[in-house]
Amino acid sequence: MKIVMLGAPGAGKGTQAKMIAEKYTIPHISTGDIFRANIKEGTPLGLEAKSYMDQGKLVPDELTVKILLDRVSKDDCKNGYVLDGFPRTIPQANVLKEALAKQNDKIDFAINVDVPDENIVRRMSGRRACVTCGATYHIEHVPPKTEGICDKCGSALILRDDDKPDTVLNRLKVYHDQTQPLIDFYNNEGILKEVDGTIDVKDVFESITKILG
Ligand code: ADP
Ligand code: AMP
Repeated sequence: MKIVMLGAPGAGKGTQAKMIAEKYTIPHISTGDIFRANIKEGTPLGLEAKSYMDQGKLVPDELTVKILLDRVSKDDCKNGYVLDGFPRTIPQANVLKEALAKQNDKIDFAINVDVPDENIVRRMSGRRACVTCGATYHIEHVPPKTEGICDKCGSALILRDDDKPDTVLNRLKVYHDQTQPLIDFYNNEGILKEVDGTIDVKDVFESITKILG
């Protein structure tokens, strides 16, 4: 099963993608996580990506597509995957579609997690991310057991630089300009599914599992 998660930054794509990956035993692939891991390791890719990410801009398609295609060619992707944060532009979606078509393959579901802009800034300023394992929390809605500490690995939780309100507003603008058109793209492909992302995490997941079966 190959799944694409759509939705504004902070809509809950990562939260749901991790749960999908666990239930259906497929890898969760987040281009944002791949970039952040490279930033942490200080690789040239990380350095380049950081200059865009810190401003709330998209990393150029050429770089992002190469990384994603490399990742999905790995053995663990044979039975499918859930993509979180990719594609974010129409050209990215077309490259993915063409790469899959060459193998007589396709994306099965594009799930749009719908959350209005009014909720997004609050969601993002409350998000806390683990510096080590990438787990995400929310100070009100999904709190860790001990404040500031990851339940899964015990490392420190941080507020991502790009989750500060000014950057979030830029990211929302970029989302509406460049990523939202993917809703029509996947609707035209006949695989778009919409879920309400404003309800409880477990209820969003229930709507998704009804779709995926
Ligand atoms: P995305 O991957 O779309 O950027 P995340 O999954 O990281 O979004 O979620 C953004 C923030 O909102 C996180 O702090 C997360 O814990 C919280 N969150 C996710 N889903 C919900 C929900 N249904 N209700 C309330 N908060 C949520
Ligand atoms: P995310 O973790 O998905 O919120 O992504 C964080 C940041 O990484 C984004 O704001 C972009 O700067 C960059 N990024 C992640 N995925 C992509 C993508 N598919 N295309 C371009 N930039 C991306």
